[in-house]
Formats: sequence, C-alpha cells, structure tokens
Amino acid sequence: MEKLITKELVKKYNFKFNKNLGQNFLIDNNVLDNIIEGSEVSKDDFVIEIGPGVGTLTRELLNKAKKVCAVELDSELIPILQNELKEFDNFQLIHKDALKIDFNEIIGDEKHIKVIANLPYYVTTPIIAKILNEGYNFDSLTIMIQKEVAERIDSEPDCKEYGALSVLVQYYCDTKIIMNVPPSAFIPQPKVNSIVIRLDKLDKPRVEVKDKQLFFKIVRQSFNMRRKTLRNAIKSLKVMDLETMEKAFNDAGIDPRRRGETLSLQEFANLTDSIYKFI
Ligand code: SAM
Repeated sequence: MEKLITKELVKKYNFKFNKNLGQNFLIDNNVLDNIIEGSEVSKDDFVIEIGPGVGTLTRELLNKAKKVCAVELDSELIPILQNELKEFDNFQLIHKDALKIDFNEIIGDEKHIKVIANLPYYVTTPIIAKILNEGYNFDSLTIMIQKEVAERIDSEPDCKEYGALSVLVQYYCDTKIIMNVPPSAFIPQPKVNSIVIRLDKLDKPRVEVKDKQLFFKIVRQSFNMRRKTLRNAIKSLKVMDLETMEKAFNDAGIDPRRRGETLSLQEFANLTDSIYKFI
C-alpha cells in the first residue's frame, strides 16, 4: 500500500504546526493500519474525517471508502491537501470549523456514514457531544483521542472515570478500544498517551426515557455535584418540592442518599421517568 510520509510532507511544504489547533500528526504506519482495520471501512462507506492534517490518514481512507469528506479548519493545510490528494475524485474538502458545521449538509442522502479521525484533543469532548446530540445518521465513529477521555467513555458506575461523558456515549453507542498509542507515534509529540476507540451507534438508545432532555439534565447535575447525594443534586435542579422528590425516588426504587456516580444508565432512566411522572 502506497503511503504518504507525514514528515516528508511537513518538510516539503515547510509546514509550521499550530499548537492552538491541536496539531499532532500521525507518523506511525502501524497505527494508521489499525485505524483503517478497526473502522472496517469499505467501498460502501461515506467517510467524514475531522482534521485531516497533511492527509496521511485521508489518503488511506480514500483508497478504501466510496467517498471521503474531510473537514479542516487550518487554512494553511487547505492548499496542501488539495494538491496532495488531487488524483482522487472521491475526495471532498471542507474548510470549516467542525464544531460549527451542520453535518447533515455533508451527509445529504448518503448511507453508511463513518466518522474516522485523529481528533484535535482540545475539542474532543465537544465534537463527540455534538455528533451524538445532533442525531446524525452515522454507523460508527473511530477516533483517536486522549487516553483519559477514552477511559472515561469506556467506564462503568462506581469507577472514578465514570461521568456524564460515559453516560452520553453509552446511551447512544457500544464502545470498543482498538489500541493504545504512545506519544512517539506523532510529530510533534503530545504530552499525553492516546487511544483509538470505536463507537458503534446503537439502533435505538440503550435505555428508554420519556424525556431525553430531562434525562441528560439529571445526569449532568448528578456529576456536576459528584460529592453530593442524589437528593441534594436533584434538589438543586428546583424541578419539584422536597416531598414530591422523595416520592419520585421511592417510585424509582433509588435511595436518595446514593451518589450519581453509582447509578447505571438504567437507574438514571428510571429516576428520570419517575421525576417526569411527578412534575
Ligand atoms: N489527521 C491528521 C493526522 O492524523 O496526522 C491530523 C490530526 S491532528 C491531531 C488534528 C487536525 O485537526 C489538525 O489538522 C488541525 O488543524 C485540525 N483541527 C483542529 N481544530 C479543528 C476544528 N475545530 N475543525 C476542524 N479541524 C480542526
């Protein structure tokens, strides 16, 4: 398989890294192969890549997928990508901030959408939250992210990593760690370790709730006030008086002295539906 060498491209274009844009470019072909294999991208797939950099991963994706649409914010990278990937007629480049984009405009009528990216770490959580919350019709996200964030996503109740991000991702997706990646796989080297993780969108959310917004409001509040009991966390939402709140806890079969970090997704769902019933 022909491979573009990141270091050579950086030199060829005298590219200056912009730290503010989380630019750590992949130089390890083994990691590249694992991302491609782990994503199971095929000729049926429409791939959205966020932050293509100098296009190292993009080129591999273009060889495997039906079409690749890359979204890059750095204007310095646009001419490089246009020039280096000009032989591909299945390549589309969008010069925009991935946080501000309406992905439905890119997706259109396409099916089999896969998001594959070595994400800029400074916006990892907002990008994941945006893609999940805005309800796009994607099959999977295969993303390189900071190790600690991957551990939060993949954690369970009662673990210190378990939080609102774990619940958000697990509500919509199955999660699978593909590989650990050391700082030496990038230029410049980041200060942190990375993980490639795959999030497979479930056909329907993992738990059923009557009011999704209320569910996530309760989840966020429970983790914002991690050290407090659920009683205190929910009280501060000011959605009901104390007596009704006790009834709702009772109805859900959840002890209000517990902390939010001990609740499974199903328990958060039960609590949400009981609160919903009483307000
Ligand atoms: N994909 C390349 C690779 O693996 O070598 C580069 C990955 S680098 C970690 C992150 C890339 O995301 C950079 O190209 C950076 O300019 C771009 N980027 C940063 N913030 C962005 C944003 N808000 N929207 C789109 N791209 C962004």
